[in-house]
Amino acid sequence: MKLLIMGAQGSGKGTQCEELTKIYNIPAISTGDLFRGIIATGSELGKKVKTIIDAGALVPDETTVEVLKDRLSKSDCQNGFILDGFPRTMEQAKLLEGITQIDKVIYLNIETKTAIERIGGRRTCPNCSHIHNINYPGDPEYCSVCGTKYVVRDDDTEESILKRLQTFKEKTLPIVDYYRSKGLVIEINANINKEYALNQITEGLNNYLKGLGEY
Ligand code: ADP
Ligand code: ZN
Repeated sequence: MKLLIMGAQGSGKGTQCEELTKIYNIPAISTGDLFRGIIATGSELGKKVKTIIDAGALVPDETTVEVLKDRLSKSDCQNGFILDGFPRTMEQAKLLEGITQIDKVIYLNIETKTAIERIGGRRTCPNCSHIHNINYPGDPEYCSVCGTKYVVRDDDTEESILKRLQTFKEKTLPIVDYYRSKGLVIEINANINKEYALNQITEGLNNYLKGLGEY
């Protein structure tokens, strides 16, 4: 099953991916995580990418598609995957069609106000990418999955967040409409909580699989 998960910053894509990857046994691939991995190597490309990301801008399509294609060619992706953070522009959506065909698109619909509140408390594990919110129960300092100390991402500044939310509205939302017109979208109310969202997602995906006779 080849899936996309879409939604504004703070809608909970990463959190849902962590669960979906276990339930459906497919890898979750986040272009943001791929870029953070490249930055961590300290390479020339990494330095270039860091400047762009910290400003809340988009990495050029050419670089993004190359990084993604490389990841999708790995053997763990052959039975499917869930893409988080790609495509973000109509151009990327068209380029994706030249790479592979997507079965379903999960859209986490969230109110901007709620999204901003959530990103404010966001902590990320630099080791395993687990995401935690300090306003919710759990250890606020150390990763509940691997024990590494959480960090606040360098790009989670107010200025960068507002810019990314704006870019989402302008450039990414039109792609949701595009996929909707193709009948691919499972739309989720992401304002309630993560358990509710996961329930709705699995219900939608299981219905889809039932229709295929696979589940
Ligand atoms: P968020 O959803 O909070 O913006 P991500 O981890 O998905 O976080 O992405 C972090 C940054 O990585 C983005 O702000 C952008 O600079 C870059 N990025 C990620 N995916 C893409 C993409 N598909 N195209 C261009 N840039 C991307
Ligand atoms: Zn961790």
